[in-house]
Amino acid sequence: MNDKKLTDAEKQTLWCQIHLIGICPNCKAKDSMQMGPQGGLAINIRCYKCGQKYWTSPIMGFGAEPI
Ligand SMILES: [Zn+2]
Repeated sequence: MNDKKLTDAEKQTLWCQIHLIGICPNCKAKDSMQMGPQGGLAINIRCYKCGQKYWTSPIMGFGAEPI
């Protein structure tokens, strides 16, 4: 956990950008997100353009967070 805590609304916005729109929330590249290790309800996902990694989940309510 870093000290820049996102609000739930911000996490939801990231989730929508990643899962619904299909863009990287950081660099806005389309279809650049690569699924990494997935365990249960947690997915690590990484943008191959800018290298930003996110923790996310298939469940919308969990949102997404940069890691
Ligand atoms: Zn990116």
